[in-house]
Formats: sequence, C-alpha cells, structure tokens
Amino acid sequence: MQRADRSVPQGSVFAPLTFCCFLLQWEVVQRTLNGSQLYTYSVCNVGEREQDNWLRTTFIQRQPAASRVFVELQFIVRDCTSFDGATLTCKETINLFVSEADADVGTTFRKGQFKKVATIAPDEITGKNELRINTETRVVDNLLRKGFYLAFQDNGACVALLSVRVYYKTCPATVQSLASFKETVAAGENKDLRKVIGECVDNAVSEEQPWIFCTVDGEWVVPVGQCQCKAGYEKVDNACKECPEGFFKPTASGDSCQPCPAYTQKQGTGAESCPCLEGFYRAQTDSEMDPCSGLPSAPRNLVASTTQLSAGKLLLSWSPPEDTGGRSDITYSVECQRCDGLVCQTCGEKIRYDPSSSGLTDTRVSVSELDAHLNYTFTVEAHSGVSAYAPQLPSTSALTTSLHYTEPPKITTMRLVERTPTSLSISWDVSPKARVQPRAFRYELMYRKNDANSDVTTYTVLILDKDSVQVSDLAPATAYMFRVQAVGIDGSHGSSMEEQFETSSEDSLTTNNTAVIFGAALGGAAMLFIVAVVLFLRRRSVTPPPHLYPLVFTEQLKPLKTYVDPHTYEDPNTAVMKFAAEIHPSHITKQKVIGAGEFGEVYRGILKAPGRKEVAVAVKTLKPGYSEKQRQDFLSEASIMGQFSHQNIIRLEGVVTKFKHAMIITEYMENGALDRFLRDHDGEFPSFQLVGMLRGIAAGMKYLSDMSYVHRDLAARNILVNNTMECKVSDFGLSRVLEDDPEGTYTTSGGKIPIRWTAPEAIAYRKFTSASDVWSFGIVMWEVMAFGERPYWDMSNKRGFRLPAPMDCPSAVYQLMLQCWLQDRSKRPKFGDIVPLLDKLLRSPDSLKTIADFDPRISIRLPSTSGSDGSPFRSVSEWLESIKMSQYSENFNRAGVVTMDQVMQMKNEDIKNIGVRLPGHLKRIAYSILGLKDQTSTLSPILIV
Ligand code: AMP
Repeated sequence: MQRADRSVPQGSVFAPLTFCCFLLQWEVVQRTLNGSQLYTYSVCNVGEREQDNWLRTTFIQRQPAASRVFVELQFIVRDCTSFDGATLTCKETINLFVSEADADVGTTFRKGQFKKVATIAPDEITGKNELRINTETRVVDNLLRKGFYLAFQDNGACVALLSVRVYYKTCPATVQSLASFKETVAAGENKDLRKVIGECVDNAVSEEQPWIFCTVDGEWVVPVGQCQCKAGYEKVDNACKECPEGFFKPTASGDSCQPCPAYTQKQGTGAESCPCLEGFYRAQTDSEMDPCSGLPSAPRNLVASTTQLSAGKLLLSWSPPEDTGGRSDITYSVECQRCDGLVCQTCGEKIRYDPSSSGLTDTRVSVSELDAHLNYTFTVEAHSGVSAYAPQLPSTSALTTSLHYTEPPKITTMRLVERTPTSLSISWDVSPKARVQPRAFRYELMYRKNDANSDVTTYTVLILDKDSVQVSDLAPATAYMFRVQAVGIDGSHGSSMEEQFETSSEDSLTTNNTAVIFGAALGGAAMLFIVAVVLFLRRRSVTPPPHLYPLVFTEQLKPLKTYVDPHTYEDPNTAVMKFAAEIHPSHITKQKVIGAGEFGEVYRGILKAPGRKEVAVAVKTLKPGYSEKQRQDFLSEASIMGQFSHQNIIRLEGVVTKFKHAMIITEYMENGALDRFLRDHDGEFPSFQLVGMLRGIAAGMKYLSDMSYVHRDLAARNILVNNTMECKVSDFGLSRVLEDDPEGTYTTSGGKIPIRWTAPEAIAYRKFTSASDVWSFGIVMWEVMAFGERPYWDMSNKRGFRLPAPMDCPSAVYQLMLQCWLQDRSKRPKFGDIVPLLDKLLRSPDSLKTIADFDPRISIRLPSTSGSDGSPFRSVSEWLESIKMSQYSENFNRAGVVTMDQVMQMKNEDIKNIGVRLPGHLKRIAYSILGLKDQTSTLSPILIV
C-alpha cells in the first residue's frame, strides 16, 4: 500500500496493484493514449440488461496504524448517448466495495463479504471521438483487520480503469522548536488529533516534555513545550552548537551566546560563564551577564565641622571615592574610636548617628552625644555590592578630631544696681576665663515672681549679650527670683546663679532714676530676644505682658529648662499626657521579671512601635487593686522622667495609661542596679573605670540640678547600669522618699529618710537641695569605690563622723568625697564642679595612683560577736564568708589552712599560691588578715601587694 506524505498528498500510482479476479465482462484492453501504450481494465456491456461485473484487487496488507486509506481512481466513462440506438440499460457510474480480512483468501471471491464504499460518477464523460480521464478519490475508513480487498462493480456502464492508487497519510518526521518528532500515521477521521511526544535535539533541554498534534490530514499542529539549548550552547538552524571562544551562555535559554563581560577571563568554546579577573567581584544580585567590579577606593576629603550649635555634635562629610569600582550602589559606614591619652576604645552605643552609622547613601552624617575635649577617630568606609565578597578590607578614610567648644563661664556674683517700684536693674560677673572670649556665649536671664501663693507661675526668659539688664513693668514691693546662666554657642549651659530682688514700694518713687546705669531698658540693643514662657497655668490662662514677644523656640534659643512638679497640675493625668508618650500595650512584650518596684513587678521586655526598630525596655507595672491615688503616684514618675533628656538619666520610652494595666516603659539597663552590679563584680574593675562611672552619675546629676530638680534619694541602688557600664540616674517617684526606699528611716521630724545617704540639714530640718544631693553623691562615690559595700555598716550615725576611704581608693577621689560631706552646704562643690574635676582625674591617670590611707579595722565588715582570744572567727569558712570570699574556702582547705591561727600566719605569697589571683580579692583577704592581726594586737603587719 502506498503512503502519501504532506508534500505529496496523493502521490504516485499504487503499484503493483493487481487485480486477481475478473468476473463476468471485465477485460484487459490495450490502448494508446497521447501516443503511449497503456493497459486498462474495461467493461462495456451497455446493451445488455442486468449487468453485474466485478473486478477485485489482490490482498492489500494494511499498515497497522493506518485505519484510514484513500483510493484514487483514474477512469474513463463513455457517454450513454454516444451509443447509437441508446438503450435504457446503459449506465454511467461504477461502485467501489471493500472487504476486510486477516489473511489472503486467494482467488476465492464472495460478493456477500463486500461492503459498498461509494458509487463513483465521472465528472466528465467521454463521447465518440474524445477521451476524458476522470480522477476521483474515495476514503475507506475504520479499517481494523490486517488487510483488505477492494472491488469495483459495474452495472452496465462503459468504463475503463486507468489506475488505482491506494494510500494512507502520515505526518512526516520533523524537527520543530529544537524537538524532533518521528513520522506518525495520521489518525482516522472520527478520532481525535494524534498527540505525539517529541525529544529535544542534542544539547537541548526542556522543562516540559515537548509534544505536538498530528492531524487527520497529516499536518503537524500546536507544538507544546519548548526545547532550549543548554548553558554553553546556542541555536543554529535546528540544532544546538557550542558557544564560540570568548563567548558564553549561562543558562538554558533561547538566547544566543554573549561575549564575556568586562573584567572577566575569556573562556574556550562551550563556556557557561566567564569568571571574574583577580581583584574583581560580582555581588549576589549581579547576574553572570554583568561585568565584574572592583572594590571602591577610600572616601575622600573627610572633614568634621561643628555647624550644629548644640553641644557634643559634629557633622562629618566626605567626597565619594575616586574609583567606585564601576558600581553605583556605593554606601558608607562610619566607625568611632574614643581616645583618652593612650587608651582607645570604640565609642560604643553612647554615640548617636543621624541618619545612621552604616548603609549611608549620602556623603555626610551627623554625630552627637560626643564629649568635649576627647579625641575621636572617625573611620569612614566605602562599600559597594561587592564588598561582602572581597577578602581584603575596604579602603577607609580616617580623621581624628575632638570637640573643643568653650565651656560657658560661671556666674560668680549677681547684684542689684537700681530698683524702682516697677523695675529692677541687675548686673552680674562671670569667672575670668570667660572674659577671654566674650562673644562665645550669651546670657539667659530667667525671672519670676517669688510668690508661693500665686496660682500662676510665669517665667520670663531674656536672651542677652551683655552682663546687665533693667527689667521693667514689675509690680511694686514684690520679690522676684532671678536666675542667670551663660549659654555657649553650642547650646551648653554654664552653672547658674539665683538671687531674689525686690522692687521698692510706691512711696519711694521719688528716688533718682536718672542715675540708672543701664541706658538700654527692655527692647534696647543688648537684648536679643525676649521669650515669654508660661510654664504652667493652674486655674486660668495668662497672656504674657504686652512688651514681651512670644517666640517660637529654636534649637539655639532654648529657654532655660526647669523641672515642673507634676503635683502642680490640678489633674495629674494632664502632666502625664504632656510629658510622656502614650504607647499601645500591643507594642509591648513582657519577657521576664527583673525586679520589684514599689507599685508592682518590673519586667524586661521588647517595645516594637510601628515603623521603629525593636528596643529592649524595662516595663514597670502597677499591681492590681491599686487606688486612684496610687495610680497617679505611680505615673508621676513618668511625668518627671519624661521631662529629662540626658545620657545619664534613665530614658522614658512612654507610658500605658489608657488601658486597665498602667505601665511605665523605660530604656533597658542590662546590668541592673549599680550596688548589686558592683557587689557581683567585687574587685574586678580598676579605679579608672570606677571613676568613669562616677563621672556619668555626676553628669546626670548636674543636668538634674541645672533643671532645679532635687533627687532626694541618690544612692547606688537607684543608679542603673547598661551593658557598656554606663550609669544612669533613676527612681524619680514622688512618694519614693517616704515609702518606696527600703533604706527610709523615720526621723524626728516625722518623714522617712534614707539616713545613711542624706545630708545633715535634710535630716534635721528637711532642707533638700542640690547641695544635699551632692552629699548623697559623696556616699555614692564611696559605695562605688568600695564595690557596693554598705556605707557605715553597723556603726551608729554619729554626728561629724565621716566614712573612711574604701580600700584602694585614690586619694583624690576620697578628697572629693570629703568635700561633698562638708557640714556647710554652701561650701560643698556643685555638680557643675564635680563633673570637670572627675574629667580631669580621668584625663591624667597618674592622678589616681596615690591611694588614700586605709584603716583595715573598719573597712572590712566584722561580726558583732568576737572571740575572746585570737581571731573573732570560729572557722576559716566563717571568716571567708564575713569578707564575702567564700569561693576560696576549698583553696584554703586544699592547702591545709584549716585554723584561723594558720590564716594569721599567711603572707601575700601564700595567699597567691593557694590560687587567689584577682588583685582585688588578694587585697581583700590580705587586708582582712592585717585587720585581724591588728585587732588581736599581735605580730607586725604583713606586706601588701
Ligand atoms: P525601681 O522600682 O525603679 O526601684 O525598680 C526595681 C528594680 O527593677 C531595680 O532595682 C532594678 O533591678 C530593676 N529595674 C528597674 N528599672 C530597670 C531598667 N530600666 N533596666 C533594668 N532593670 C531595671
């Protein structure tokens, strides 16, 4: 059987198609057609009735998939009318029959086994003198058996069969979209399209197996699933060819090979990638198609400037690197090292960067919270997308700078120069140092009526550039409090002075006013700005006096900030709202109880406010069952804390007041309360570090005293320590002095006071001032230098008694303590003096080398019961416990030192040899032995390391 493909849909003559059986009148006739001889099977019995002439083919083997075959006939039919005496019996059609069989039946022919396929009529009939050849094709469908026979039946026509061609259709073998499909027999007419699975050509791959449909007409349609040349190969015609040398293709794709990008190594044929040349890199986000890039060179022209006028702030700026390595994703990071003498350390978390210290896209950053007069080294690194992949360190630009702003001078005296019933003329002096740079600062003068009964407190703040002023429009015979403070151009405040002056009464109006030394009154040239600050109004609002112009405060012109007692608000909730941010409780996660406050538990937690980074916080809670008064007292701490903003004051994050469980959220201090922290690290820190901690506390206290806030309960237990050992003043509850503090003791005046920390005048007649806070600071200094030892131990508080120097305490530090404990409070140093003094000690470590005299008998806590002879301790372990050195019990035991007599024989070397290594511990044990010997008045002192 002939098959026909698409290009030759109805191809050549089926050959050899033979006819086996002539039945009745069919015969082979030789004819000449267009000059050539050919044989035809003919029949022409037109004149006879009831003709039934059959012609059958030999057995035609069927191709198994070909259920549908085409039969193409070429034939001639004579026109019935062309026969003379046309007869009624003449026909002009023939019939096509088929019969299926599984095997050749030879010559056996049974009409009944054939089934009719079609009656075939000619398009053109042949007349007497012409020959018209017809070609007709018929389909024989649904063939199932191994083969078949065709038969032609003539019922009285005059026909000649010129040829019979039998064929089936296929879709030819093809390669489409880099997938090859085998030749496929077309499906039968009543079947669906035939789905044919293909295979990718060599070096091509596909995610989905490619397939295509073969139609009944032998046509390929709808190819599905693209094959693509794999990495390193590209499509050329219908095949995948290797990339030529110097070209690459990274993935299986329809793309063609690309030349290797810049800064890459050229590869041989078939390259999938071009690796970077040495010293060049690709970022993870870069594609293989991108060129490789080098590291950016160092940022250039790094400079620091102090254009910002607030204290401790620097603006660092630089130019982009000369060579960006061919990248545009350059960012910068800044690192800070703080050097004090030879000791350098990273600046830690104290320093603030705006907008941040890394990932900067701008070539500038503002750095704040810097200390004056310290050397800072800033290192700026340029990074790009490839920095993380380069083994070498980024190029950096470094700059060492320090803030040398002039500290504002101190006001030394204030005097009244002239007074009238409505005006006061005042002048003041500053410390001589300040006169050197008269333009480096201005004065802020703040005054208010000194009227305790007034229901309105109005402060007026004047910014002046000379050291005198006349204040007019005052009330006659009225006392006014004046406070003057010098303010540096960087916004820092010098120590202030406060005095009260009174206007004269109306009767004295006749005094000579013309002698007023101040030509310029309010509004004169000396005055820069006048700011009316209505700090709080209790019952009614007050408009500023007409000659004062309220101004919007700018950073350079901050009014003197004064602490506002939340109790002065009629509704304490107003104070909370004013000074503390409200936080939604869903932004707070409580993690673990870390302490117990007066009002409830204190938790460590996480604050995640929308749009802000997570921060660790302390969450103070108010225990259930509280009264409204307790709730207000609890929240008053937040109203106070919220008014402060200083590195050494615990920072308020906010409050929860609008929900059932009120909370106060503050920054989290990893190392907890200072007294506990020091006790846990007894002997572990050098004096330098302890003095550094004291400096922080003093700075916080200076800030509080500048704001006229008196703490009243300054003690190591109320100082918190963070993970960089920075100390911050905390505990601002209003009721704390009375109720909260476990150290509180009832005094003769009735109040509860932490006696061991409180200045004599505060104990005696409740005179709490910044000077009494300075006394307490002296006690804190002692607590710190004694690693959390309890002041005074079990001794009674004798008047005039002063704590002895703690062990190993630098003499200069002890001298300062003694100054803080001067009976006359006006002689005690101010916090404004203490901070620079401690700074000075820190700057010259030698100043800490001289150690204060130490009396071992009182520096080690002793039990009240002492033995009658020898040591007061019954055992070595009891003794070690008393000096908090129990951890060495085993060492003594192992060394065979089991009696106190043996202990008292020990020398320094012996203590070291049994394994006491920490210098602080070594000293503690040695001192104790020395003390024991002294007490029992035996032997000479042992040598101290
Ligand atoms: P207070 O009620 O402030 O005395 O807090 C009680 C205890 O909770 C303190 O002694 C600390 O141990 C702990 N605490 C309070 N606030 C914080 C904080 N901000 N960070 C870490 N611990 C804190």
